[in-house]
Amino acid sequence: MEETAAKPRRSGGGGRQCCICHERRPALKRPKTLEQIATFLLRLHEKSCCINRSTEMLALKICRECFYAVFEEEIHQVIVENQLFKPGERIGIGASGGKDSTVLAYVLSELNKRHNYGLDLFLLSVDEGITGYRDDSLETVKRNEVQYGLPLKIVSYKDLYGWTMDEIVKMIGLKNNCTFCGVFRRQALDRGAALLKVDKLATGHNADDIAETVLLNILRGDIASLNHVFTYAYFKKLDYFSTECIYSPNAYRGFAREFIKDLERIRPRAILDIIKSGEDFRIATSTKMPEQGTCERCGYISSQKWCKACVLLEGLNRGMPKLGIGRSRGLNSNQMKTDKPTSRTKSIESKQCGSLDF
Ligand code: SF4
Repeated sequence: MEETAAKPRRSGGGGRQCCICHERRPALKRPKTLEQIATFLLRLHEKSCCINRSTEMLALKICRECFYAVFEEEIHQVIVENQLFKPGERIGIGASGGKDSTVLAYVLSELNKRHNYGLDLFLLSVDEGITGYRDDSLETVKRNEVQYGLPLKIVSYKDLYGWTMDEIVKMIGLKNNCTFCGVFRRQALDRGAALLKVDKLATGHNADDIAETVLLNILRGDIASLNHVFTYAYFKKLDYFSTECIYSPNAYRGFAREFIKDLERIRPRAILDIIKSGEDFRIATSTKMPEQGTCERCGYISSQKWCKACVLLEGLNRGMPKLGIGRSRGLNSNQMKTDKPTSRTKSIESKQCGSLDF
């Protein structure tokens, strides 16, 4: 189901005006958030009405302003119902300059003001050291810092690990680069969060990317909001960066993306269904989950003696970058013999950013 700019119609199909305000010209028709809009309308009109009938739901059209209201209200409801934040908390927002994290930063700062959440918000960015990609996207984040009035902290791989991704790729090539990058990024966010003394870290992802990740995890055997993000960012003219990483392999994720788009053409709810399936997966009670501890070397989170970042870093520094790749060898090998990684461990360690913002 596609969001398309709605052309005015003289009769039928819900008329020429927005189905919520009945005043402005519609800008979206048959949006993916149909059910949210229906819920919004029901709340608005209490015992309404036509929207219970699916044929008429398909004719719903809304204007930009009402789309913003539905989008923001839904996020607010999720925050309130799940008690995501407490007044006085310091919240870091993972900010890459991409559309997902830009929308997250904008909406969270707006809702914080509008509903008096009482949060101290900070932008946290990771500079992987990828020339022609991250340096440009960080310029966007620096503008967001000014636009939204949120303090920004940038942590870099060079400062934390002594290596940039450019240098790592020069050494290892383009085969396992995303394993290094993904492991380092996750820890860099932890380290940045500790530096900022934040209580929680919020990261932004859209539904298409989450569905792709769920599907990829299923295909790899790693089972352990919605894509109105783009529309919102586009309509609001938010300042975001949309170029893909120059080191992105993307082939496998690209297949998953195409497959999901095909599914969506046949069944418009496919993306939401895949996400729901991912949420519904249960890990067998017999599956041994890694126990969270701290790395003996750097003191950050690890389920083994050395965290994956330290193992990978040791390999780089010794000129043996394959040391931490795979399961069979490496600095935690003694432990590995007795504590074979579960599929979930592998999933956590090897996940790439792909097209995800963070
Ligand atoms: Fe890092 Fe993502 Fe680029 Fe891979 S695609 S090198 S994980 S930024």
